[in-house]
Amino acid sequence: MRKGTLIFLLCPNCQGELVLSGNSSPAEADGHILTGELVCAKCASTFAIRNGVPILLPAHISNVKLRTASRFAEEWTRWSDLRDYYEKEFFDWVAPLAPADFKDQRVFEGGCGKGRHTAIVAGLGAKAIVSLDLGESAFVAFAHTRSFPNAHVIIGDLLSPPIRPVFDLAFSVGVLHHLPDPAAGFASLASRVREGGRVAFWVYGREGNEWITRYVDPVRKALTSRLPAWFLRLLCIAPALFLWAVIKLFYRPDAQGQGPAKLPYGDYFAAQYRYPFDEIHANVFDQLVTPVAYYLRESEVKPWLASGFRDVTLRSHRGYSWTGLATVCRRKVYVAGSRG
Ligand SMILES: [Zn+2]
Repeated sequence: MRKGTLIFLLCPNCQGELVLSGNSSPAEADGHILTGELVCAKCASTFAIRNGVPILLPAHISNVKLRTASRFAEEWTRWSDLRDYYEKEFFDWVAPLAPADFKDQRVFEGGCGKGRHTAIVAGLGAKAIVSLDLGESAFVAFAHTRSFPNAHVIIGDLLSPPIRPVFDLAFSVGVLHHLPDPAAGFASLASRVREGGRVAFWVYGREGNEWITRYVDPVRKALTSRLPAWFLRLLCIAPALFLWAVIKLFYRPDAQGQGPAKLPYGDYFAAQYRYPFDEIHANVFDQLVTPVAYYLRESEVKPWLASGFRDVTLRSHRGYSWTGLATVCRRKVYVAGSRG
């Protein structure tokens, strides 16, 4: 982290100001402090800075969340390169948001994994992007983005985000459905946005994925989420090869990039037609590795946006997931007895 990151941060335990401890290492040539400590000026909690990333976890954090994060980190610290097709995929997920919507904005990313979207948004000229993740993948995200002066990677819990509510735009792609309480995760993401700023998310849908909840989920819960990651990675090779062959044989996109309408997941698999095998393998592994995954109905996601927002859009993305976008409008809070 750079010293400038401090203007966005707060103590996750008491929302107090954080200051850099004198024991911290001097800044590197690129401005980053790689090892050190942040201290809360109010409650005196201390937080380590390790490998350039401040670790701002609240005092009480559930084991299931840490386990989910570390299961994903197994993958992200392994497949750690950034690919050129990530940007197209990102803007498919967050549409109608477009590259221009990120320019000169203060952006908060809830759940950054290896930093694939952090790098995209930083490269698009955001004023700043503060990206949070719960697990060790944040160290990979830091390595991928440390050269961007506008990128700030932190370790923290999205349900107690250690940052100020000053952001113009907050987004979370593929993360909220892995939290124990996705609705609370969304509320927490939106709570960091300033009045009039926007919040965007993409989550798994129940609609279009019934077969996963019926046949894959029981296996994931009972078996694959408990297997050692190296073993699961081996197990995933056969189904991933099968899927890769099916995509190559039956899902060639047409000139408009559309997939075959008659086949399940037509556009979704057509979009993956040119992906290398290891990306398909990573997607299969992703589905099976996590202890927590919710597949959400439209009727479950809609209430997230029911109050405190305007200009709300919720769209089905390719029939198997939900993309939401809304503008934050907090009602003015009147103190009893005051006028106006
Ligand atoms: Zn504090």
